[in-house]
Amino acid sequence: MRVARLRRATGPVFALLEDTEALLCDRAPWEGGRPTGERTPWSEGELLCPVTPSKIVCVGRNYALHARELGHEVPREPLLFLKPPSSLLDPGGTIVRPPESTRVEHEAEIAVVVGQRLRHASAAEAAAAVLGYSCAGDITARDLQKSDGQWTRAKGFDTFCPVGPWIETSLDLGAVEVSCRVGGAERQRGRASDMVFGVPELLAYASQVMTLLPGDVFLTGTPEGVSPLERGDALEIEVSGVGCLRVRVE
Ligand code: ZN
Repeated sequence: MRVARLRRATGPVFALLEDTEALLCDRAPWEGGRPTGERTPWSEGELLCPVTPSKIVCVGRNYALHARELGHEVPREPLLFLKPPSSLLDPGGTIVRPPESTRVEHEAEIAVVVGQRLRHASAAEAAAAVLGYSCAGDITARDLQKSDGQWTRAKGFDTFCPVGPWIETSLDLGAVEVSCRVGGAERQRGRASDMVFGVPELLAYASQVMTLLPGDVFLTGTPEGVSPLERGDALEIEVSGVGCLRVRVE
């Protein structure tokens, strides 16, 4: 099932998507939202970022080849960091490269949407709490990431976290691939099965530190092939079994 957030005259509305029609819901699915009975046609231009999280938890160096391309070893424990919810970007949106940086790069990632509160969870409890998956970009000012020594500024700019175009709730991650195209040319491709730490393990690990709330988002790391984004680039991030997220670079 596809869960989306649609732009409507009265404000954003969560909906379950069918091919041409949307079943409008009374609130977000992680808040117990249900279809209201109203059906309406939908179009791609109405799709908003499908998540409204209290936090976006991320993991660095979770694919061995990407860790190595940046000159790092694979970590022994998940290397967690946060992106602010203010960095979220709608499908079809525009990434703004800040003047502080001369090297803004794409990182295509599988986003996990948490459906239930998790605190000191086991991997099995974490697995059962996954609502679904989406496509995400962990856009990064690589020069600032290196010069700052920590990542808050480099990964926290407004527009640096495109997510969408919807949440797919029935997906077996086993054979899923995440890929990235810039101007139609493939730059990244990786398999979920190549993650150093899997999704249940990541959520359980994070939940020892911070309570994961319904609707929170977890970005699971990026495969190798990160590269700079230039003015006017068309960025496509695809997760097989979910769909394709398209944004542009200002
Ligand atoms: Zn990343």
